[in-house]
Amino acid sequence: MELGPHLRRIGNDLVAAYLIVTDDGITVVDAGLPGQWNDLLAELEAIGRPLSDIRGLVVTHGDSDHIGFAERLRREAGVPVYVHAADADRARGGEKPKTAWGRMRLGATLGFLAYGMRKGAMKTPPITELTEVHDGDRLDLPGSPVVIGMPGHSPGSIAVYSKLADAVFVGDALTTRNVLTGQGGAAPAPFTDDPAEALDSLEHLAGLDAAWVLPGHGTPWHGSPASIVEAVRKAAS
Ligand SMILES: [Zn+2]
Repeated sequence: MELGPHLRRIGNDLVAAYLIVTDDGITVVDAGLPGQWNDLLAELEAIGRPLSDIRGLVVTHGDSDHIGFAERLRREAGVPVYVHAADADRARGGEKPKTAWGRMRLGATLGFLAYGMRKGAMKTPPITELTEVHDGDRLDLPGSPVVIGMPGHSPGSIAVYSKLADAVFVGDALTTRNVLTGQGGAAPAPFTDDPAEALDSLEHLAGLDAAWVLPGHGTPWHGSPASIVEAVRKAAS
């Protein structure tokens, strides 16, 4: 789905990943669920670009619903995978700390789990080789993505900012659709390791200049980072 001249989304409001598309190649941000590999191929076909145009995959954190097709993309297309150092262990298959599930509505929760099951969420392969990135890094990839530390959801959660794409990809630093309740609107994301820290990290987004704020779950936010930060803080208070 096209969001802008250099910006496309694959997946849906349950689980989404994004492409930064340039003449010099493509950067993929997040790798959704394993079965979304087919969505990636379909999207590339729709824009008439080969898999070999992908120069890198940046994942916003190491949780399984964001690294779905990462290992396959690395193995089959030789695409390097970038993960924040503090989430590298999780991306390699290390343990995620248990968090409370919080409030849920049965229908929405089952819908999320059923979609995950269909797309192979139960057998997400760990990433066997990755490049660690750090806060403030500007990656030498299409769209010149910049790594912004957003610890809270996980220690190595990041936002990825691309001026060219006019977007900031936020993973689960916030959500616009709670996967457990189905409720739309900007809010803190569920399954967050340290909710207070996640709220503090929003400060790192507020000053960015972008037309789109793009979460891993929920509808794209067509508005400024400052406006969504305000909305998330309001929902949390
Ligand atoms: Zn997620």
